[in-house]
Amino acid sequence: MLENKKVRHVLGISGGKDSAALAIYMKDHYPDLDIEYYTADTGKELDETYQLIRNLEAYLGKEIIKLKAFDDSVETPFDHKMKTLGGFLPNTLNRWCTKSLKLDVFEDFVGDDPVISYVGIRGDEHREGYISNKSTIQSIYPFRENIWSSDLVTKILDNKKINDRLVWAEENISSDKLFRFLEVLGRPIGELLTKDAKLEQLINLGISDYNRLALHVAKIEGYPIGNMKEDFPLVENTDVLVLKDIFLLLENSGVGIPAYYKEIEFEVDGEIATYNRSRSGCFFCFFQQKIEWVWLLEQHPNLFAQAMEYERGDFSWSQDESLEELSRPERVLQIKREYIKRQKRLQNLNKPKSSKLMDILMDAPEEEIGCASCFI
Ligand code: SF4
Repeated sequence: MLENKKVRHVLGISGGKDSAALAIYMKDHYPDLDIEYYTADTGKELDETYQLIRNLEAYLGKEIIKLKAFDDSVETPFDHKMKTLGGFLPNTLNRWCTKSLKLDVFEDFVGDDPVISYVGIRGDEHREGYISNKSTIQSIYPFRENIWSSDLVTKILDNKKINDRLVWAEENISSDKLFRFLEVLGRPIGELLTKDAKLEQLINLGISDYNRLALHVAKIEGYPIGNMKEDFPLVENTDVLVLKDIFLLLENSGVGIPAYYKEIEFEVDGEIATYNRSRSGCFFCFFQQKIEWVWLLEQHPNLFAQAMEYERGDFSWSQDESLEELSRPERVLQIKREYIKRQKRLQNLNKPKSSKLMDILMDAPEEEIGCASCFI
């Protein structure tokens, strides 16, 4: 039961750029919110991720709580869980690592308290991120125009609740905007009007009015935010942050861009190209591209060797080849050549080559895939 329980505000730091930037943004813009920052450590993150967390702690002036699954085990959380599964490695279809090492520990951490969880999905992304099945956890997306989760939006725009929404508007919307508001709110979703189109029309009438309506619905529907005694300050938030804003926030704060993003030059057939790691997470994460495995092999050979040790029998990190096969010199060369070819194709399609880190990252296709808990 949520009754009378104090709302907790939490923000998960994955080690990626977006959650780090969100922590900076929330401290700068909403210093009065008592946010608990946490990170769920698999024991297999890159050193650069741990450094980012230390930098952030210095900026935030508070500790980032380190959550660890199987805390009483002498092994790392990843190794402990893997052994209980008989050496079965996670893959894109069976991501036991995310569930056991990230999501379960988070849900244990918050228990049954009403929680507002701030998530760093950007205004230029079209995904929802993790939404807990627990009704006590509510996700808020401060970087987006629509800060509310899709389940709440569905309730706001529910055709069966149109009358309630009209009554609310009559009591709360200023007279100069009321007619248009009633018109938009009164139109049911159906063949002629999609949910997304209605949402857009509503937001275009005024983001703060829409946010106040969302807050009203969240309260009557029993969302955690209804337990807040004080006003929810993000109701007045009109900011939309996209990728370039994230990099500026990281750079200007002094926290810095995670070091694994740093472009490193390599040469093949007389051509110079660059590679880097495109996101946070475990060093052996199966979401990596082939060129990132080559980056690991050449830049962190000890970690590559450790990743290799996990592969046995049918269990390998990639579906189509083992790391032993991938690390052969002729295969490394082939991966680099294919990577350079792909980069050229992309540049021809997009725009003239820029060597700026921000431009390279903005072109990264992997921005849209992967695991929100590990990479945001
Ligand atoms: S980073 Fe990859 S391997 Fe690590 S927990 Fe996340 S999905 Fe699993």
